[in-house]
Formats: sequence, C-alpha cells, structure tokens
Amino acid sequence: TNIFKDGLAKTRTAIVEKVEELITRRKKIDEAFFEELEEILIGADVGVNTVMQLIDDLRAEVKARKIEDASDLQPVLSEKLVEILKGVDDPELHMAESGMTVILFVGVNGVGKTTTIGKLAHKFKSEGKSVLLAAGDTFRAGAIEQLEVWGQRVGVDVIKQSAGADPAAVMYDAVQAAKQRSVDVLLCDTAGRLQNKTNLMDELNKIFRVIQREVPTAPHEVLLVLDATTGQNALSQAKLFGEKSGVTGLVLTKLDGTAKGGIIIAIRNELNLPVKLVGLGEKMDDLQQFDSDQFVHALFA
Ligand code: GDP
Repeated sequence: TNIFKDGLAKTRTAIVEKVEELITRRKKIDEAFFEELEEILIGADVGVNTVMQLIDDLRAEVKARKIEDASDLQPVLSEKLVEILKGVDDPELHMAESGMTVILFVGVNGVGKTTTIGKLAHKFKSEGKSVLLAAGDTFRAGAIEQLEVWGQRVGVDVIKQSAGADPAAVMYDAVQAAKQRSVDVLLCDTAGRLQNKTNLMDELNKIFRVIQREVPTAPHEVLLVLDATTGQNALSQAKLFGEKSGVTGLVLTKLDGTAKGGIIIAIRNELNLPVKLVGLGEKMDDLQQFDSDQFVHALFA
C-alpha cells in the first residue's frame, strides 16, 4: 500500500483527474493542449517557473519521441515529475556517526514544527533511541506547554526555561542535559516569528554557535518545516529560510486534505534541498519519510 495515497487524494483530483479529462477531451497534442495543461498545473500550485520549465521539457520530449496522441503523454509527465522530485534525493535523516545527533527545526509559526518534533520523537523512540526535546521557541505563547504535551504523550523529557528566555540559553541547557544523559537524539524547537527577519536569523545563528561549541559536528540536520496548505507562501518561505539559515532539508506538513500538494514539486524544483519528511495528519504516526517514486505513484497510479 502506498503511504501517500490517502493524503494526496485532493492533490490527485487537482492535477491528475484534470489532466485525464484534458487528454480524453483533446485527444491530440497541440498548442491548445499545452496551454490547458499549463493552466491545470499552475492552478495546482506547481509554481509558474516550474510549470514553464516542465511544459518546455514536455514539448521537447513530444517532438523527440514523435508523440501525437495525448494519451501517450501521461507517462512522460509522471517521468518528468519524478525527475524533478529526485533532483536532490536524500530522504534519510543524517545522524551523527557516533554520539548524539542534534536536529534543529526552523519555520514560521503554525506550520507544524512542534507537531513534527513530537511525531519524530515518537518515531525515534519506537526505534529504541533515547530522545530529548529542547523548547527553543520561547517567544510564541503556549509553545513550551505544547511541546511538553507532546513530550508527555510520547514519553520523552523536555528541557525548557520560562517564556521569553534566551533560546540560545535553552539550547545550551538542552545540550548539557543531553550529554549528561547520553541521549541519542536531541530535537530542538525554535521560534518562528517573521515580523523581524534579521532578529530571527541572528537568533538562529546564535543557537547554531552554542550547539556547535558543545557538539562540533552538530546540528546534523536543520529542517525547515513548511505548511503545504499555504501553497505559494510555503515556496516563498522556503526561499527566504533556505538561503540563509543553513537549512539541510525540508519537512512538508498538512499534505493530508490539501489540494495544494503540487507545491512540493515547485519547492523541489526551485530549491536545492531534499524533502525529508511529510506530515499526513495530526496524530503521532502521521509522519512519513519522503519517497519520490511513491509520491508520484500516489498521484498517477
Ligand atoms: P508550530 O507553530 O510550527 O509549532 O505548529 P504546530 O505544531 O503547533 O502546528 C499547528 C497546527 O497544525 C496544529 O493544530 C497541528 O495539529 C496541525 N498540524 C501539524 N502538522 C499537521 C499535519 O501533518 N496534518 C494536519 N492535518 N495538521 C497538522
């Protein structure tokens, strides 16, 4: 069974069912066909740049392979999508070769950072690893408590200070505690306010320095969490964070129930970053490692 099948149902409707309808109606590949295909893909949040590139590629393939029937285009389209998604194919989380692995989560408020940390803590725990959480979002009201709720649910401790504390100080405490307890994985939440971009980047840099001073090979991953339901906004956030904050991979949340799953194609195409994890619901088990073949298969099979 395909892990993405249910979650991608609406995205499938937004892209594939429309493409199928187009193919049945137009039958032949011509300019009008490409124009409509372009509209469908842009409407499904695949992103203008990516769609333009994709259509150009399809035109070239159609010519090279002398394809005339629209029905022969579908496999070529899914091939191209897999190519884009595989551009940087590195879904495994990078772990420390020895000792503690530190994973930092960044992203704007509400995208699902805390939830993803909780789910991932659960995943590591069920693999027999010891986990500690760091409540580095000292800014958003309720963020610390929310992480503690996840900690209790999953059965892992949370290192915290009071609201408004210096996040770098929380990280320092967390790394010390993690070292003392010899935990396998430290998962760090961070603040995601965007009102003041420079401050946020300074704060992240400070957190980086504190972690690196204590664990020279860390952080082993900096995961940018993006909310798929925000479509093009997720793409702009990816560009904004991706270029500046040492991000090593992406987590795309809330793919369940959104028709905007096409955004993952735009993000993969426009950024040189691998998609690592995908959020498919609010529950503990609703987190999956990304798999480009399965993703496209869930759309087209
Ligand atoms: P944060 O501000 O980035 O820490 O975001 P939260 O972790 O608090 O998540 C914001 C909301 O999104 C919460 O109501 C979560 O339950 C919900 N959420 C997070 N991930 C997912 C997901 O993959 N699917 C769905 N449907 N909801 C999610």
